[in-house]
Amino acid sequence: MTRLIFLGPPGAGKGTQAQALAHAHTIPHVSTGDILRGAVAQQTDLGLKAKAFMDEGELVPDSLMLDLVRDRLSQSDVAEGWLLDGFPRTVNQATFLDQVLNDIRQSCDYVINLDVPDDIIVTRLLNRGRTDDNESVIRHRLEVYREQTAPLIDFYRQRQQLVSVNGNQPVEAVSRDLQQAIQSA
Ligand code: ADP
Repeated sequence: MTRLIFLGPPGAGKGTQAQALAHAHTIPHVSTGDILRGAVAQQTDLGLKAKAFMDEGELVPDSLMLDLVRDRLSQSDVAEGWLLDGFPRTVNQATFLDQVLNDIRQSCDYVINLDVPDDIIVTRLLNRGRTDDNESVIRHRLEVYREQTAPLIDFYRQRQQLVSVNGNQPVEAVSRDLQQAIQSA
């Protein structure tokens, strides 16, 4: 049974690493970014509300995010483990997640922080070319990350749940370091 949270700036490689790790541990990869992009593509109520925030590099409001995550973590496929990617993104979301996990009598094993310097991130995101990846939106997402999400690194470090991995290496090297970090944590 494995329950993991992935932290890291946009473009850190969370998606790629999370998918590989979830596969290796046969647990569902729960990506709030993927869920939201799916909702936007299908033009659901959630998607229609979330799109403007995503396009601007803003966080989607908690009034939409919290129910979404609570519902997703109550589904049967994640009863035996999960890898959460993109949530929590704020201290408020982390506190909410604590409550949800407490309610369903689960706890997270590790919080993995993928560390990548800012200049590398901007270059990576510009090369990625997603619709929300133009330079001013990227810079804004990074600001939002620094202000709202980066404090979670200390939040989880103080609780001794944090495992940090250098994300500024080739994909295979990051995967290897991740596996080692989890085994020796
Ligand atoms: P990245 O991998 O670039 O960090 P994601 O795919 O995780 O981006 O998320 C894309 C967008 O979806 C974010 O910029 C944000 O607008 C929205 N989003 C995803 N997760 C959350 C969340 N937990 N809270 C608020 N907004 C979110």
